[in-house]
Amino acid sequence: MLGYRHGFHAGNFADVVKHSVLVMELGRFVLKDTPFLYFDTHGGRGIYDLNSEWAETGEAERGIKRLLSLSFSGDSSGIPDSCKFYLDIVKKTWGSGSVYPGSPLIASYFIREQDYGVISELHPKDFKALENLFRHSRNIHLHFKDGFERCRSLLPPRGNMPKRGLLLLDPSYELPEDYSLVQEAVKRNIKTWTAGTILLWYPLIERRAGLIENLKSGIADFAGKENVEWLVCELAVRKPGLTERDGHQTSLYGTGMIIVRPGWKTRDKLEELLPFYQKIFAEDDCSYFKIESSGSL
Ligand code: SAM
Repeated sequence: MLGYRHGFHAGNFADVVKHSVLVMELGRFVLKDTPFLYFDTHGGRGIYDLNSEWAETGEAERGIKRLLSLSFSGDSSGIPDSCKFYLDIVKKTWGSGSVYPGSPLIASYFIREQDYGVISELHPKDFKALENLFRHSRNIHLHFKDGFERCRSLLPPRGNMPKRGLLLLDPSYELPEDYSLVQEAVKRNIKTWTAGTILLWYPLIERRAGLIENLKSGIADFAGKENVEWLVCELAVRKPGLTERDGHQTSLYGTGMIIVRPGWKTRDKLEELLPFYQKIFAEDDCSYFKIESSGSL
């Protein structure tokens, strides 16, 4: 039973950081004509109306809307280039009435004729929305199937799938076993998909602190043994614990990403981007950001 609906959270600070990193990494793949594969295990619905009642959680108000109002205010001097690049993508849909793009739609702006997309989504309504969104796409393949299973059976790419590419793992972590499933998927692809960049999103939630530490150290140790570069970045916006915002309770106090085989400039870009996002999204003095990486980065 799937209880999680991303619509309640779309455009929050965690989406802003995650999608900024996604745009940053996808940008590298279109520098060459060689085809690439985009593999999204947990696609969501691809498009979110931030004027709908779903957005009443106020998360987008404290996330993308706050960032956009700064950008629309005319003074863009302090905005890092990688944030501008992300905002340019968001503005492609925003004009049609506060519509926010999810990861599949963001990726579709990079996917060219020669490239190949695979997107899994298990919620029937969100899958329908995806089908509608990509009804005219020939090279974006939608799977109404478990994303972890798709990742196990289709990766590393074979047959007509491009050999280089990007895997995004972005589950809802409703179930504690999601932490071990993502760890297993990342380790398997570190070993078997040697031309694949991996982006793994994880939440900062106090009661899951042990699982999160285990996830990070498990992947970093494994990548280190395989001599593969990795990077971890986190932004906490407030003190840990359950809190209430706009009448809704939330335990998410920060956002994290593990990037395996990042671009050679990714660390520099994050060092500019995270302090900027901290300034915009911090809710109290406990806010922090951090970047850790393999020694070679
Ligand atoms: N990646 C999306 C984005 O950035 O716009 C958001 C994804 S949301 C965090 C997680 C999604 O995974 C939800 O839409 C949920 O229905 C879906 N989901 C949950 N379990 C799944 C599974 N085993 N396989 C595929 N999708 C799943």
